[in-house]
Amino acid sequence: MKAKPTIKCNCGQRIRAKDVMQTGYYLRLFGPSFIYVKYRCSRCKKLGEQCIRQEEWDDAILNDIPNEVNDFEKRKFEAMGKISIREAVKFHFDLERPDALARLNREISNEPLFEKE
Ligand SMILES: [Zn+2]
Repeated sequence: MKAKPTIKCNCGQRIRAKDVMQTGYYLRLFGPSFIYVKYRCSRCKKLGEQCIRQEEWDDAILNDIPNEVNDFEKRKFEAMGKISIREAVKFHFDLERPDALARLNREISNEPLFEKE
């Protein structure tokens, strides 16, 4: 298996999602297309940029937390889809309830974890 590309600053620091200031996409008619990443290094604070071939791109390049979710959880989260604005708003108001923590604890101990509207 080919090693996954990573983005590294000239000082050697690995660049992660929080360091990224801008990303872009270079589409070319001929030859490979590129994902462009502009960053500020969290260690030396210098600006840098790098292009990665689109076919080599993987979100894991910027997020090195490989085992945070297992396969079962991954499938479950994918099935739930993206968090909608409505869900975010509902969550916001749910948090303002005085019994928010008790309710959250109860939901965590019962499946399913979250109500999908
Ligand atoms: Zn650096």
